[in-house]
Amino acid sequence: MHYLDHAATTAVLPEAAALACQVMTEQFGNPSSVHKMGIEASGIVETARRHVAAILNAAPSEITFTSCGTEATNTAIFGACRRRGQGKHIITTAIEHAATLNTVHKLEQEGFEVTYLQPDADGHISVSDLREAIRPDTVLLTCMLANNEVGTVLPVKEFGKILKKKAPKALFHIDAVQGLARLPIKPKLWNADFISVSGHKIGAPKGIGALYIKKGTRIAPLMYGGGQERGMRPGTEAVPNIAAFGEACRVRLEQMDENYAKVQVLCDRLTAGIAARFSWAKYNGKHDIPHVVNVSFPGCKSEVLLRILEMHDVYVSSGSACSKGKASHVLAAMKVDHADIDSALRISFAPSNTEEDVDALLDALEEGTARLRRA
Ligand code: PLP
Repeated sequence: MHYLDHAATTAVLPEAAALACQVMTEQFGNPSSVHKMGIEASGIVETARRHVAAILNAAPSEITFTSCGTEATNTAIFGACRRRGQGKHIITTAIEHAATLNTVHKLEQEGFEVTYLQPDADGHISVSDLREAIRPDTVLLTCMLANNEVGTVLPVKEFGKILKKKAPKALFHIDAVQGLARLPIKPKLWNADFISVSGHKIGAPKGIGALYIKKGTRIAPLMYGGGQERGMRPGTEAVPNIAAFGEACRVRLEQMDENYAKVQVLCDRLTAGIAARFSWAKYNGKHDIPHVVNVSFPGCKSEVLLRILEMHDVYVSSGSACSKGKASHVLAAMKVDHADIDSALRISFAPSNTEEDVDALLDALEEGTARLRRA
């Protein structure tokens, strides 16, 4: 099996799975219980919080566990925009994940005005466009660190600096779901008030995320209940998932540089193979991180090509996994031709991939594209 769709999700790391299993079957107490089992469970949550904080260069008290990246992003955006007495203008980009776009759409229905910064043909968002977009009533800037479809990296450091200078009361949220464990996360340097991350992109199970909330930032929670997570995210903690997320962060932080270098080698092998065998293919975006490569094979409908690759046990994606079958809004915003959007594949790596995976993909592509271009 050659799985090259890690921007959609990853396998759980053995260390994380083993810990989750132990927590589910042995240390299964409720962290709110005052007896020994509860205290033990609470300790497991706090250990995980320290590991997540470490990879985010944050204090443990700045980490709130959520059910996923989407929930973290909803918490930050609604929380920032519903502060009393603030403005009604939001800035985001046209290349955000649905977790952000559909949340700001909801706020638009409630009377907020949203500016969508547009990417250039490479998928980059310009700092001067942001500078022009900021208004006295801007309440929030929300953007991603790394794009999930084309792998571009946004200039969050410059964004944060300009936002805080021009609109000091506005808050800054970064969706770092695709940047986590790939790039160093620097909330202070970036002037970030919120950072969303998700477990299942880095070797933790699905159904766990976290939100960095800068110390001293006051927002209302999305839900009300038993007061867990200091009231920011009530509901009994998903201790096995939290433990596994913490463990995945610990392992991935330790191996971050080594893993990045590994993925770079795989990406270079892929791009060299594409140059040698498919000189007619077209890249979409600049893949600033080597983990996500988006490339069109004109004349080969991606949905059909995907099926042929699948027959070779090679798994890639035709775009964001969340936008099943829908034309990519990211490529459309980059003004990629319709025919190229229709034939775009997203190939996304994890450090567990091998050169054999890349070679299997290239061989399967050769057969698939030859077949479709003949048809
Ligand atoms: N943001 C980005 C950039 C993503 O790629 C994803 C998942 O694909 C999310 C947010 C949503 O994360 P989750 O699946 O944990 O809700």
